Amino acid sequence: MRIRLLIGVACASAAAITATVLAGAASANTTTGASRALAANCSAGYVALTFDDGPTGSTTNQLINALRQGGATATVFPTGSNAQANPSLMQAYRNAGLQIGNHSWDHPHLTTMTQSQMQSQLSRTQQAIQQTAGVTPNLFRPPYGETNATLRQVEASLGLREIIWDVDSQDWNNVSAAQIRQAAGRLTNGQIILMHDWPQNTIQALPGILQDLQSRNLCTGHISASTGRAVAPPGSSTQPPGGGSCTVSVSRGQEWTDRFNVNLSVSGSSAWVVRITLNGGQSLQNSWNATVSGTTGTLTARPNGAGNSFGITLFKNGNTTLPSATCATS
Ligand SMILES: [Zn+2]
Repeated sequence: MRIRLLIGVACASAAAITATVLAGAASANTTTGASRALAANCSAGYVALTFDDGPTGSTTNQLINALRQGGATATVFPTGSNAQANPSLMQAYRNAGLQIGNHSWDHPHLTTMTQSQMQSQLSRTQQAIQQTAGVTPNLFRPPYGETNATLRQVEASLGLREIIWDVDSQDWNNVSAAQIRQAAGRLTNGQIILMHDWPQNTIQALPGILQDLQSRNLCTGHISASTGRAVAPPGSSTQPPGGGSCTVSVSRGQEWTDRFNVNLSVSGSSAWVVRITLNGGQSLQNSWNATVSGTTGTLTARPNGAGNSFGITLFKNGNTTLPSATCATS
């Protein structure tokens, strides 16, 4: 959550910071958490995860929990009838800070309807969302993505912007969690992915999706009603990072023919995430005093209760260059 919250102000300068930091391997060994958090976490921009058709008794709370655990946000498009039937889940959406749009009353093929039927579908849903979640949507997603000029006129009369999607996860089509995760891998800055509130595979895919986005320096945002694109969520430019900042230093430890130790020490915040960029060929053999994930490329280290100094043993595979590391608060 916090990582996401500090971005907005400095997103333009973040790219410059990244470039500077990554340019010199030597200076990259120590980077302050404040600048790094900006650069590392949202430097590639924002994407919108959208979940249609909820709320659903069996999955909505799981969805919200998965988003919370990943420090992510999303846009939900409930139907009016589901909203009316599940007022407490609508409040859960709202309390989780999710953006709430309109997805018609009961999911008909709107383009086969008259203008007054369309009007009823959309306006009843506006009311149901207002009554259950206390917010008035300004986004509308037509069921099946089906739209026409008459529908757009109705949308406009209710102050709704029509939102389709850039990437269809196909989760509605019973694809696997791995396939849903793969689809999200195609998202780029500003884009929107279609998912649903109800498939179990979508819930299962979420942690991996969020992990992948993070590794690509993409953050989850909300959809701008003026541009229809994913942007930083509200409040992201004004709230300071809750965990302060951190710095990590990297030094060479004991060395053997085939491997060497790297010692890392974090100062500043004790709620940290250190990303360690290995050099070509190098791979992780062992680690201590931190929970380290990954074995090649970029490793991610988090505290495991053993304090702020930790270490790793790397197989050289011909490369003895000290890896670089950056620290961000979590
Ligand atoms: Zn739908």
